[in-house]
Formats: sequence, structure tokens, C-alpha cells
Amino acid sequence: MYYDAAEGLSRLEIERLQLKRLKTTLKQAAKSPFYAQRFKECSVDPEAVTSLDDVKRLPFTTKQDLRDSYPDKLLALPQSEMVRMHVSSGTTGTPTVIYHTKNDLDWWASLMARCMHMVGLRKDDVFQNMSGYGLFTGGLGIHCGAEKLGCLTIPAGAGNSHRQIKLLMDFKVTGIHIIPSYALYLSTVFAEMGVDPRTLPLRVALVGAEPYTEETRRRLEALYDMKCYNSYGLSEMNGPGVAFECREQHGMHVWEDAYLPEIVDPATGEPVPDGELGELVMTSLGREGMPIIRYRTRDMTRFLPGTCPCGREHRRLDRLQGRCDDMMIVKGCNIFPMQIERILMAMPEVGQNYLIMLERDGFIDNLRVKVEIRDEYFVEDMRQLAALQKRIVARLRDEILVTPKVELVERNSLPKSEGKATRVIDNREKGA
Ligand code: AMP
Ligand code: ZN
Repeated sequence: MYYDAAEGLSRLEIERLQLKRLKTTLKQAAKSPFYAQRFKECSVDPEAVTSLDDVKRLPFTTKQDLRDSYPDKLLALPQSEMVRMHVSSGTTGTPTVIYHTKNDLDWWASLMARCMHMVGLRKDDVFQNMSGYGLFTGGLGIHCGAEKLGCLTIPAGAGNSHRQIKLLMDFKVTGIHIIPSYALYLSTVFAEMGVDPRTLPLRVALVGAEPYTEETRRRLEALYDMKCYNSYGLSEMNGPGVAFECREQHGMHVWEDAYLPEIVDPATGEPVPDGELGELVMTSLGREGMPIIRYRTRDMTRFLPGTCPCGREHRRLDRLQGRCDDMMIVKGCNIFPMQIERILMAMPEVGQNYLIMLERDGFIDNLRVKVEIRDEYFVEDMRQLAALQKRIVARLRDEILVTPKVELVERNSLPKSEGKATRVIDNREKGA
């Protein structure tokens, strides 16, 4: 039933294994110039860690630490032992580089294969990976998992939508990996080509790499007639394969044999009570090339309480709300882009794309939302369009407590991206 033994461990077994691996990881980390110095500064004695709770006394590692260690101060083994590197996406300035040994890559591929196996993919499936290859981990990370599982794996890469659709049809693809914003866009290309994606043999999609809402998932499942499973990961912790939804589609099991997750208050770094929203902090529990201790992911989520009906005892993370730095403050209200997406994607008139713009008008911040409208609702009748616009404004205001300016736009008139979508453009600094 399970892909490997670790998937089916009990809580007690998981925690025993975590403690053992935490100790090994600390010793391994201490071999890197970065942690050797950090442990000395903070008087951390890896030998003094005797319980999982002791992790709270260890120092955090931040994105800035990773930047400052560029290119190789976090390596715990000589560079000759490393066989691949990746770079975190979306970083400006000095990138953060993650190195992997052969063993690290093997383990990562197994974790990824475990995720795919959990949602019913098997060796006779044909799997198309539609995310960018290269430095981004969504390419090779998912690819190696699919190969390990034994699927015929198509490294389609990002973009080139007509070719994507042709591959899906010609090779009778049953499983895909796709970024949610691109999956929404691709459905409009299907429509232009006169092909109904629901007629394809596609049944399972791994959907992740950027935040999206339950409403978007439902929309994608209906558009393609496939099951969409949320896939979470970050380059600093390998990439995809960190946490993944089971068939219950209620929270993502974080593979606790490989990671030690914590949720902390992003302002104080203190643990939040179980089940409350906070910032995810992660420790790698087996990486030999570049272990990372208590990494501040900036991603906001919570542990779901209780056990999952599927029987797996690895804890579940709630759908990511976005990153703490995504929060917008407009007229004194805190707004996450996903609150806006939730409202828009639940409205049948709304098409597959939207864009949030922040502008400053004198001393006042304005929130403008450009919303694509489905062709059949983009009618000549101005009264109907005006009524729709008012309805969207009212629903958004109820959710975010600020009255946005809503602009209705035609299909494919907003910038589209093949990788992670830019959902917010902040023009406030430039003034108006
Ligand atoms: P990268 O730097 O390319 O490794 O991107 C990792 C980041 O992508 C994470 O820290 C999250 O902010 C985001 N991300 C990845 N998967 C998801 C997901 N399923 N839901 C929300 N955000 C995600
Ligand atoms: Zn489950």
C-alpha cells in the first residue's frame, strides 16, 4: 500500500527517527564553515540535543544567511562530492544556491516518488512535467521522482502551449505536473484549439510551486476532469516532495522522516500554539551535502489537528496562505492576495486570470484589481457589465474590508507567465 516503510511509520516511530536524524544532521552541519561559526557564536553543542524539543534552542537560518554564504560556505562535504546544484527562484540579487550529493538526490527522488505513488500514479502511467527545467527545482525534482516510480516521463518544460497539448494528446498522458496559474491559462488555449481537455485520459495533476486557493483547485478539476493534488516544496529543502496531499485532499502530509517542521510567530520566532497560523520553519533531516537547520521559509500555514483518515501519521500542513512578505497593507487593512483569488475564482463569470495593482493617489493607497471575464459574459450590454463589476467589488469588499477599483478585461489581455505568476504589482513607491 505504501511506497516505502517510512511512509507508514507511527508517530512514535517518526519521532524516534527524527531525533536520531536531527543529531546526525547537527554533527554533519557543524562540518560546514557557516554552521561551524554559527554554532560557536551561539554556543550550540550538537551533543547536548537529547530531545526533539531541544530544536527550539537552536538558532534560525534565514534567506540572508544563505545569501551571505554564497557560493559554498554551507557545504558540509567537499565540493567534489556534490553532483548537482539548484537555485531558489524569485530571488533578486545574490541567489541562494543549494548543492546535492548523489545520496541527497537519491533520497529526494524517493520522497517525490512517494508523493506520486500516494495519489495513485504507477509505472504504467505517462507523466508530463510542464514546469521549467534548469535551475528551478520543479523540473528535475519532479522528473527524477517520476522516473524513479517508473513512469514514462515527458520533460516538456514550461510554455509552448500548443506543443504541450499535442504531447498530452499524442502520448495519452495520465499524470502531469503544472503550476496553477499556467493550468488556468492552458485551459484557454485548449478552448482556442477547440479541444475539450475533459476528453483526455488525464487523471492526476500535481499542482503547486505557488499559492492558489481551494476555489482554483475546484475550477481546475472541473475544467480538466482530473484530480489536483497540492504539492509543496522549496529549493532550500530540496524542492518539491516536502509536503504533499494524499487522496483525502485535506492538507499536505509533510514527510517527517526527512524534515523537522515547526510553526512559529513570524514576528517573534516563538512557537505558536498547535493548529494556529504562523511561519513554517524547516530542518532537513538527512541531507549530507548541505544540511540546513531551522530555515525560516516565510511561508504561512498551520498544522491541521487530528489524524488523517488515510492512516498516514506524518502531520498535515494546511494550504499555504502565501508568504508573510506577500501581505499588503491598504488603508490599514491587512490583505493577502489569496483572499482576492478565493472570491474571484468562485465566480463563474470570472475568467482564468487576474492582476492586483497597488497605487498611491496623494496620501491614499488604492487597490485596483483587473479581472478577466469569460467570453460569454463579455457582452455588449453595458448595464450587465456594470452590474457584474459592482457585484465583484461588493464581494471583494466583504472579504478584504477595503473597496477596490475593479476593471473588467477581456480574455488573454493580462500578462501571462509560464513560471510562477506575478499576482501583485506594487506601484506605490513610484508615487502617482
Ligand atoms: P523556490 O524558491 O523556487 O524553491 O520556491 C519555493 C516557494 O514557492 C515556497 O517557499 C513557497 O513560497 C512557494 N510554494 C511552493 N509550493 C507551494 C504551494 N503548493 N502552495 C503555496 N506556495 C508554494
Ligand atoms: Zn492523508
